[in-house]
Amino acid sequence: MSIQDPTDRALLTARALVLADLRVHGVESPEVVTLVEHALVERKWWVEQWPEGAAYVPGLIAQDVQEALAEQGTVWPPCPLHDDHPLYIEPELGEDPDWVCEKDAVAVAELGGLAGGRPESEQAAEEDA
Ligand SMILES: [Zn+2]
Repeated sequence: MSIQDPTDRALLTARALVLADLRVHGVESPEVVTLVEHALVERKWWVEQWPEGAAYVPGLIAQDVQEALAEQGTVWPPCPLHDDHPLYIEPELGEDPDWVCEKDAVAVAELGGLAGGRPESEQAAEEDA
């Protein structure tokens, strides 16, 4: 792949962002990386038909991978505010997507930003609970 090509650049960005968020939750197994690669191949075709959609690719890949994991019974990424649902990509088709808790209607992190983590005090409080 040439990184000068806008399509390839969008796909590489999507790959990096999604893998970063998978890594945070320790679900970055070889099987899951394969899921990501599969989603990238399908979206490469999509974005070649509609190059203006390149900026939407990261959010779409995240949703593709989330769906594929859900089929396997893996909730990703889990909402840090509640333990009974995953975060969702918002907007579903747009630039600079965020992971959103739909229950509280708050953006938890940017896509690729889950690694930013929460304040340590909050994590400690959770461990005590
Ligand atoms: Zn939530």
